[in-house]
Amino acid sequence: MKKELLRKLPSVDSLLKDGKTAGFLKDKSRLIVVDAIRSALEDERRLIKESAAKIYRFNIGDFRKKVGTEIEKGGRLSLARVVNATGVILHTNLGRAPLSLSALKNLIEVSTGYANLEFDLEKGGRGERYSHLEPLLCRLTGSEAALVVNNNAAAVLLVLNTLAEAKEVIVSRGELVEIGGSFRIPDVMRKSGTKLVEVGTTNRTHLKDYEAALTPETSLIMKVHRSNFDMVGFTADVPIQDLVKLGKDNNITVMNDLGSGSLIDLSNYGIKREPTIQDSVAAGIDVITFSGDKLLGGPQAGIIIGKKDVVEAIKKNPLTRALRIDKLTVAALEATLKIYMDELKALHEIPVLRMLTLQVAELAKAARRLLKGLRGIPGGRFEINIRDGFSQVGGGAMPLQEIPTKLVVIKAKGISPNRLEKKLRTNSNAIVARIERDEVVFDMRTLIEGDIEIITEFFKGASIA
Ligand SMILES: *Cc1c(COP(=O)(O)O)cnc(C)c1O
Repeated sequence: MKKELLRKLPSVDSLLKDGKTAGFLKDKSRLIVVDAIRSALEDERRLIKESAAKIYRFNIGDFRKKVGTEIEKGGRLSLARVVNATGVILHTNLGRAPLSLSALKNLIEVSTGYANLEFDLEKGGRGERYSHLEPLLCRLTGSEAALVVNNNAAAVLLVLNTLAEAKEVIVSRGELVEIGGSFRIPDVMRKSGTKLVEVGTTNRTHLKDYEAALTPETSLIMKVHRSNFDMVGFTADVPIQDLVKLGKDNNITVMNDLGSGSLIDLSNYGIKREPTIQDSVAAGIDVITFSGDKLLGGPQAGIIIGKKDVVEAIKKNPLTRALRIDKLTVAALEATLKIYMDELKALHEIPVLRMLTLQVAELAKAARRLLKGLRGIPGGRFEINIRDGFSQVGGGAMPLQEIPTKLVVIKAKGISPNRLEKKLRTNSNAIVARIERDEVVFDMRTLIEGDIEIITEFFKGASIA
């Protein structure tokens, strides 16, 4: 019986000849209409399989409506803006750092036309794409030279490959970190062609461990910032100043992978002190790498700064060409870095920094605004409350930092928290919330302008249950 129903479904070809269904072809391309018909037919097949055969009936009117819906759905882009109500500021799965408005403006300005990406306007000849970023990076960090590649993983790979291919690199056992899924320091070292020499123990590494590991084959000492985990208890670390001295005395380059790299000492703003990029430069580290889209709050990029001769050698590595950034990144990063010339402006205009330093009183205001909007929905069957909670930095940065925040907690009658969370997430304007103690919670800290309205609209239109 079901087989019979499946067999009787109209074919794509016959539907394209059906006057009304073919009507969609008036303002949509054949490719789009065929895809929509296929999806709609797929849904009919699912219905036949799932429902009792006696109940199912193919209705051409309903089917056309379904094709219309599929055309609308097919027009949506796969990568789209989502509301981040999780309170995780650098949410890796949600694209890490949101860009500042001036970065965005510059991106549009530079990339919708032509740009002097590799053209020296003074000389009228070939220029260098890194020249737009290098002076700013040097000014802000105090370093002699700079280079930017695709991401920090690429930066680490490139530095290792340039400075230590077929040679030994010393790293503390307490710093052989894994950064989200596939980036593991030992693996990157192998791929870069270097030989890892582990020193110390998991919890304690001393200067004498580094000293004992030095051989004529040693060409680099690498210090990795433990971005995404912390060690407490019986631990020991070698300060970067001591590593710099050891490197100098033995004529060995010292590298520091800072990962989340911050240009601002956030302890001035109530956040736990993290080593800044300037600290590493001032200590005399030869080469430093960090991400553009973690605490810096810019586009995805891997920033390499350091001594002139070291950076020059890196620039000459053929791998650099394979890892180079495009004009979109240059545009967004230059605009982001420019803002840092004024620290207060940076705290205000760079979304990551603004979110990190938002005062709870501000968040309480936002929470009340959302509460008011939701309470105003006629016939709303929700129980809404404001609660205290904690936001997180995320993105593998400051794992122990809990930032006090305000949460709006919603219980909807007749729908489980898990279902509500899924409905929010699959909404046409996706809203990603978190579930805490069996309730759906919205953290005010990571919302950006317009998000409260999107959440309110969802609950207004939601056919909850
Ligand atoms: C995040 C991180 C990386 C990788 O940086 P991406 O920009 O994600 O490629 C490398 N090292 C450390 C210490 C990190 O924290």
